[in-house]
Amino acid sequence: MVNYCPECGGEMTYISLTKKYCCKSCGLYCTGQELNDEHDKRQNFDDEDAKAARRKEYLKWYLSKK
Ligand SMILES: [Zn+2]
Repeated sequence: MVNYCPECGGEMTYISLTKKYCCKSCGLYCTGQELNDEHDKRQNFDDEDAKAARRKEYLKWYLSKK
């Protein structure tokens, strides 16, 4: 499983001593569980964005028919 930072997309390094992940790019520091939660949240957010974009596309198509 490759972990990447939910904040900046950078590579996450696992620190076995503390059992936490640290971002090489921005220094975000969190547990694996927190990392998963963050990614889940962003996934849902992306879905909403995609839905909104599709609605906009449909509206454009609908208006162009008139
Ligand atoms: Zn980061």
